[in-house]
Amino acid sequence: MTHCVASDALVRGRGISWSVPPAFRTRASAPALGGCYNRKTMSLDFLIETSDGKARTGRLHTPHGEVETPVFMPVGTVASVKGVPQDVLEELGVEILLGNTYHLYLRPGLETVRRMGGLHGFMSWPRAILTDSGGFQVFSLNELRKVTEEGVTFRSHLDGSSHFFSPESAMEAQIGLGADIIMAFDECTEYPADGERTKASMELTLRWAERSKKHFEKHKREVPWGSPQLSAVSFQENRVGTGAELRSAGQPWAAVPAPSQQTQSLFGIVQGGMDRELRRESAQRTVEIGFPGYAIGGLSVGEPRSLTREIVAATLEHLPADQPRYLMGVGTPEEIVEYACLGIDMMDCVLPTRAARHGLLFTSEGKVSIKQARYAQDQAPLDPDCSCRVCQRYSRAYLRHLYAANEVLAQVLNTIHNLSFYLDTMRRVRHSIRLGEESRFLADIRSRPNPSTPPKQA
Ligand SMILES: [Zn+2]
Repeated sequence: MTHCVASDALVRGRGISWSVPPAFRTRASAPALGGCYNRKTMSLDFLIETSDGKARTGRLHTPHGEVETPVFMPVGTVASVKGVPQDVLEELGVEILLGNTYHLYLRPGLETVRRMGGLHGFMSWPRAILTDSGGFQVFSLNELRKVTEEGVTFRSHLDGSSHFFSPESAMEAQIGLGADIIMAFDECTEYPADGERTKASMELTLRWAERSKKHFEKHKREVPWGSPQLSAVSFQENRVGTGAELRSAGQPWAAVPAPSQQTQSLFGIVQGGMDRELRRESAQRTVEIGFPGYAIGGLSVGEPRSLTREIVAATLEHLPADQPRYLMGVGTPEEIVEYACLGIDMMDCVLPTRAARHGLLFTSEGKVSIKQARYAQDQAPLDPDCSCRVCQRYSRAYLRHLYAANEVLAQVLNTIHNLSFYLDTMRRVRHSIRLGEESRFLADIRSRPNPSTPPKQA
């Protein structure tokens, strides 16, 4: 069992009388960016509001709005959270979405997205976005890729065509997509891997991190936000035969902020496999390169969950406490609570959306497999404690019917509920951390029926 802040609290009998240190402010900008900041030019600002042991709540200010942390980021692989329109995501309180560079690069292609003002304009999403570097997706292609010092050659899963990603081209792709936070190009070390292989992979990721940063610093002004020329071109193109009124009513370009000095922010990624010493070295050397935030990558790749927690805790010790810390690709509701307690600020996972499409729903009473015949006549809401639009309106019997009938609406409603459950869980985590009550909240979460093993990450 991980030695989490909550178990500390239980052992020491500390309760709601925990003292809350005064909030302190930090500018989450890399040292190399210089010491002169102001609101107009600052691209990322991280304010830690309360901290309790290792857990903390904060606010991440991005060029597209504020994000309360710790935050769970829904995955919108191809500029879409499968089945859920953007206005519903807004209603659910989603403040930041994740997009996958690999998928968007293949379809619809970077030039299309760039000309539409980046992802914000293209998908009409005015709030914050984070894109991955494509490294993990390419890593998952297994037989379809070849790694060299220069980069990775891979074959498209769509049509088998050959492509090449390097740190430089991954930066160019992410600058074109225009997310608020972008990731350095890394190699995700496979599991299991021996010491020599893990070390060599970590060294490659460090060299790629330097190249990523160098290219980003040189080209970061090329982000397509609010480019009048690009937006005007896009608008004119869309006027032709498509009904300009409709387009402007949809306001796809209202999502693009006015031109400003703001740029994207590039995060570094710590690798090092399951070796604590290599994780320490990777963290320290990545911090030396200097980024405004750091991710822990290379986990949830098939290792036991107890080992994931151990590596996360060990890695966090070597990351700056005053900068955002992002754990990539986790986890179950129970796990995201535990990682928040360890001091993780940002997480993403396909689990809530993918599980929903398979009829697996997370509720305050444990996991529900809505396909089961036992729900056929069940008039109760899916989760009596959930305030989402699905639980407020529909019965378990109806949701079971939609699933059994293979209705598209089943996927839509299930996904909305699961996302709502995850976002609500994080809201409760933040509230509990603020009150110093996370021990009570965690005990509540742990008393739920045991979740089954989650599907693997996309
Ligand atoms: Zn619900």
